[in-house]
Amino acid sequence: MLSNNSDFKKLLLLHSRDRRKLVMDRELENLPHLIEHMESKIKIEKDTIAAAAAELKSLESKNNFIENEINSISDHVSRQKNKQLQVKKNEEYQALENEITRLVQQLSEKEDEQIETLLKIDGAKETTEIAQNKISAKVDVLELEKVDLLGKGDLLKVDIQKLDSEIKESRLEVEEILLLGYERTKKVVARPPFIAPLEDQKCTGCNLRVSNDVSSSVLVEQKLTHCDQCGRIVYFER
Ligand SMILES: [Zn+2]
Repeated sequence: MLSNNSDFKKLLLLHSRDRRKLVMDRELENLPHLIEHMESKIKIEKDTIAAAAAELKSLESKNNFIENEINSISDHVSRQKNKQLQVKKNEEYQALENEITRLVQQLSEKEDEQIETLLKIDGAKETTEIAQNKISAKVDVLELEKVDLLGKGDLLKVDIQKLDSEIKESRLEVEEILLLGYERTKKVVARPPFIAPLEDQKCTGCNLRVSNDVSSSVLVEQKLTHCDQCGRIVYFER
């Protein structure tokens, strides 16, 4: 039986190491994308805080602007009232009276606008506070996840290096003819596994039924045999 053959067992060991390395390589390759994704998530959260803070700031400066307008209109009203005390002619008095009425009306509109702005400021303050509290905590978690990912990359590199030397060892131990067959298979088969056990005369690599020739080659002749459907090396697990 091929799988009882100690040379074949060495090839199986090499195969499992190769597969582990492929998975780790892919993981390492994927890490920068994960980190990038994490960074963009962090940026979105931070932008949300910044947007809330900017909204609050713009409302506050609008309020300051209205406040100045109110002060200036009030001053104007006071000045016109003083003038009114000094004028002698009735028409002049009436003209000032009309202007004061108009200014007072304007003042009342500005005051309404200020109240509306102050209410918006209250809302924006609340939003900013919620954003800062909630999002800061969220950002902290994301930053930690990012640190984890960076650490994972370092660990993976160490593991891959270790595995590389194990693979080298394995290759030295596998019989040359088996190694050659295995390398050829790796070139032909697009995806791992490159070696798959047969179950009920089905290749577990491609899930298709192999011919009788294939199974008898494995069982009887006990030589390196390939699935006639996918090209993977097949064997019986016992
Ligand atoms: Zn197959």
